[in-house]
Amino acid sequence: MSHDRPQSRYESLFEPVRIGPVTAPNRFYQTPHATGMGWRMPKASAALRGVKAEGGWGVVSTEYCSIHPTSDDFPFAYLSLWDEDDVRALAVTADAIHAHGSLMAVELWHGGFHCNNRLTREAALSPSGQGLKLLGPGSARAMDAADIRAFLGWQATAAERARRAGADIVYVYAGHDYLPFQFLSPRTNRRSDAYGGSLENRTRLVREMIEVTREATKGACAVALRMAVDELHGPEGITHDGEARDIVSLLAELPDLWDVNLAGALGNDSRSARFSGEGFQETYTSFVKSITTKPVVGVGRFTSPDTMLRQINSGLLDFVGAARPSIADPFLPRKIREGREDEIRECIGCNICRAANNEGVPLRCTQNPTMGEEWRRGWHPARIAPKTSDRRVLVVGGGPAGLEAALSLGQRGYDVALAEASRELGGRLLFEHRLPGLATWIRVRDHREHMLLKLPNVAIYRESAMSAQDVIDFGADHVVVATGSRWRRDGVGTARERPVHIPADPAIVTPDSAGALSDAVLIYDDDNYFMGGAMAEKLALEGRAVTYVTTQPIVSAWTQMTDEQPFIEDRLVSLGVRLRVSHVLEEVEQGRAAFRVSLARDRVLMEFGSLILVTGRVPRDDLYAELMARSDVPAVTRIGDCHSPSHIADAVYAGHRFGRAFDLADIPMLRRERPEP
Ligand code: ADP
Ligand code: SF4
Repeated sequence: MSHDRPQSRYESLFEPVRIGPVTAPNRFYQTPHATGMGWRMPKASAALRGVKAEGGWGVVSTEYCSIHPTSDDFPFAYLSLWDEDDVRALAVTADAIHAHGSLMAVELWHGGFHCNNRLTREAALSPSGQGLKLLGPGSARAMDAADIRAFLGWQATAAERARRAGADIVYVYAGHDYLPFQFLSPRTNRRSDAYGGSLENRTRLVREMIEVTREATKGACAVALRMAVDELHGPEGITHDGEARDIVSLLAELPDLWDVNLAGALGNDSRSARFSGEGFQETYTSFVKSITTKPVVGVGRFTSPDTMLRQINSGLLDFVGAARPSIADPFLPRKIREGREDEIRECIGCNICRAANNEGVPLRCTQNPTMGEEWRRGWHPARIAPKTSDRRVLVVGGGPAGLEAALSLGQRGYDVALAEASRELGGRLLFEHRLPGLATWIRVRDHREHMLLKLPNVAIYRESAMSAQDVIDFGADHVVVATGSRWRRDGVGTARERPVHIPADPAIVTPDSAGALSDAVLIYDDDNYFMGGAMAEKLALEGRAVTYVTTQPIVSAWTQMTDEQPFIEDRLVSLGVRLRVSHVLEEVEQGRAAFRVSLARDRVLMEFGSLILVTGRVPRDDLYAELMARSDVPAVTRIGDCHSPSHIADAVYAGHRFGRAFDLADIPMLRRERPEP
């Protein structure tokens, strides 16, 4: 695709911008983000980045790319430039990006005390010696002068390799609490040599990294500095209104581009929508442009073209930086350029994409079911095969799975009817988006409803609860049952396998059946994703006395994967919610629940006015069962939560997968990248 200039009020977003020796075709900059693929999946990574370039991102960055075996994040997925094999592998990504006229940026990385080096078994490094941050045991030794010299050599060698692989922009990465940032911050740098103490000394390593990177890339690549301008540790660390200004002043004109964000844990930078709004980093990063004349890129989960325009026109940024919005919609720039802003699939800020990296699996996205599937399933976010028959499809259920199935089938040209029992489409989202901080989740429905309404071959029937007879009378050739799931009321969840006897007491409810509640609420969480914590937050905000009990050692345990757990715990504590961990439900009687405290084996009794059971979910598959029991039914498939209850991303994926594969005799299997035999 050529990056032509549009004739619209968004024109300034499409101006080319010079970055040192290279020129970005527009102001859309996909900042580095993890893919969960890393060096083990070069083809899948290349296809993913190529699609971003095709979608109009003028700069497409890689994920963190290790400069040396002392920076090894295994079993998590990272890129590496340790040898010539790595150069060849990265060149595949460069070609995929260049094919669409975009620039490739390579984020060279050394994690310091964040790396366990379990694959390479190298000793970990740090400025001053300290414990490993992640799943120790062990510590990262303090670097001596020889280590620092060697480190600068590794950066130079990796930069030279990046250039040969085809990089246009090469990073010095002093963000996210990684090694160069560990040198900048007084929290982690307690050295007394030329690289510690004064601010100038603490900045020395980053300055020298910029110099060696420039030298190694021989003027062919721009040198970007990614720096965290606040680590949210208050005066103990770097703050945007404190030392960050002095550091930016010291280095102002040295890099060709400033990429600025927040540090501390990664969760600070890519905060979920529950804990941040669009543009939330502006307060921290806006000062940078007043100090440097070099172009500045910043992020903030920008999804609205108007917010993007404001960032540029008001001089806050030169590039609209995006990781998550580019995952949710790789074609976002192109949609703006073509005047299709209404079709942007906006990121909902759920951080399921972060979970993929934290789980060490390929990227997945709630909004974009094709993300991560570009190579392994051959799915393209903007293209889908046309229909191969005139079969008519009835989709029952307008939740995420049913909506996505109807949309993908409709886009293929099939004649589709979508029947939903309620007046409003959205299924589980209708309840979930009303929980505190989750309003953006309704975008999963809004985008699909909007796109469905454009398709003349899709009919939507609201307030149409379908019985098996209704389905048969409708006379479709294929029926997709997407009727969702319900929360269990028998105590079975993650930790508890056998049912508990639960009396038929209206004071004992599940999230989807909670009516009038008492002022003293006990929430039992054996689901451990967002629901238990979000219910606790909601009810505490309503002024109720809330006790939150979980089977796990920490609150909302799985949200560690979405980088939300510390924020959730902090919020519940600040709202006065009583927290009890490692409790498994044993018995319930009226007004009282008994728990086994897992380690001590003690039995604990708790009284409640209302008890909310947030445990497992079961498919709402009565309709499916009835249809399967009859002999006069057309072909029937169940999808989404009705098939296997899970998070929303899986429901959307199931709907999309059905739509892609429908009527195709030959469905390609999942492709895997294997080491050479
Ligand atoms: P998923 O996440 O799998 O999409 P949801 O629970 O979000 O599941 O959505 C299921 C939707 O199916 C709900 O909107 C519900 O009202 C609808 N539904 C359930 N049973 C029927 C039925 N018999 N006829 C029509 N719609 C139904
Ligand atoms: Fe946004 Fe959620 Fe997709 Fe991540 S997974 S890009 S947060 S919608």
